[in-house]
Amino acid sequence: MGLLLAIVCSLCVGYAVADWQGRRELPRILRRVARRVQGRSPSLVDTHYYKALTSLLNEQPDEALDRFVSSMEVTPESLEVHLALGALLRRRGEFDRALRVHQNLLEQPELSEERKQHIQLELACDYWRSGLLDRAVDLLKELIALPHINKGARWQASAYLVEIYQEMGDWLEAVDVADTLTSAKFAREPDLWRRLQAQFCCELAQRKLQHAEPLNSETAANIAAKLRQALSYDPNCVRASLLQAELALLRDAKKEALNALKSVPVQDARLIPDALPLLAECMADAELHGAHLALLKQWFDESPSLALMLAIAECMQEQEGESATRRFCLDALPRIAAIRFEVPVLMLTLSGAGSPGFSERFQQVATLLEHFVYYQCDQCGIKMQQLEWRCPGCHSWGTVAQVSEPAPRSES
Ligand SMILES: [Zn+2]
Repeated sequence: MGLLLAIVCSLCVGYAVADWQGRRELPRILRRVARRVQGRSPSLVDTHYYKALTSLLNEQPDEALDRFVSSMEVTPESLEVHLALGALLRRRGEFDRALRVHQNLLEQPELSEERKQHIQLELACDYWRSGLLDRAVDLLKELIALPHINKGARWQASAYLVEIYQEMGDWLEAVDVADTLTSAKFAREPDLWRRLQAQFCCELAQRKLQHAEPLNSETAANIAAKLRQALSYDPNCVRASLLQAELALLRDAKKEALNALKSVPVQDARLIPDALPLLAECMADAELHGAHLALLKQWFDESPSLALMLAIAECMQEQEGESATRRFCLDALPRIAAIRFEVPVLMLTLSGAGSPGFSERFQQVATLLEHFVYYQCDQCGIKMQQLEWRCPGCHSWGTVAQVSEPAPRSES
């Protein structure tokens, strides 16, 4: 009884240490091996396994791992465990060992084609995660080119390739491979891939635009074609419309720029604030000031926001004077959900008697309102001060937008 208690205690201590080291999965995997080999194939319960287990219980997981990788026989029963171990090693950043596990598996005779393709995908992942992007790309291309490749494996290989080309900044290749993912043959979430393709086209267009000084007609036509392609993939791609406006303004084609910007409220009203500086450029001529104000008011009526209210107030101060601006602001403030708690104090500030002139009071309000303007990713919730087309947190594309809800009090 005392001996049994001692064994149980030492096992508990062993696993507690393993847990503490963040290596809980390893004992689990080796236990799974033990169950499999003991239950199904007694001949495999050999000295190597016991040596590996002893190393593990002696808190030498690295040695246990090496013993396991180098000596355990690969059978149909243990293949899954080897794959799990390879994936675990990759997650732990031990790429050389993960590669050894997967290369060892590939050398096994009598693997079914499907299994072989699965292992090659794992191997490509090892190359990718360890930074050997070219080798990963070559292996994935080889896989995709196989005449009888399993449908799921081809989809996965193509999806990995798109990810890797993004890491390499090779947007042209990323667009081409994503085309195969949206084809009718094995389309899975085609709209998602098309939204990504639109962003990749925008990356290409933006890069050309940044290095296009002076802008010649050939480059402008090339950029315009990329942006049309982006909108053909995703008609709601605000980024493409903003870039179209930017390109048109560089060519001094203000009407064309204005037409592109008019798409933004339809595509995603949350991104209207990011269209306002370009809109102001389109409407810079004095004879367009009235039209500018009318368009801003129309957009505000459809989608009230702080940014629009401030833009309107700025135009109104110039065109219609202080008292009209004050009336507009006092009407507009209660329509903006993001500042519902602050409306009374803002209204008091704007209409306050005996305080500085309206311009100063308006400036105070505008400064206060800046605290409510922030961007947030739909996917991971990360907050940021400026628009990012690719979320810096979860790396999703086109998921960041200006938020219409108030920031938590502690952050404001
Ligand atoms: Zn995110």
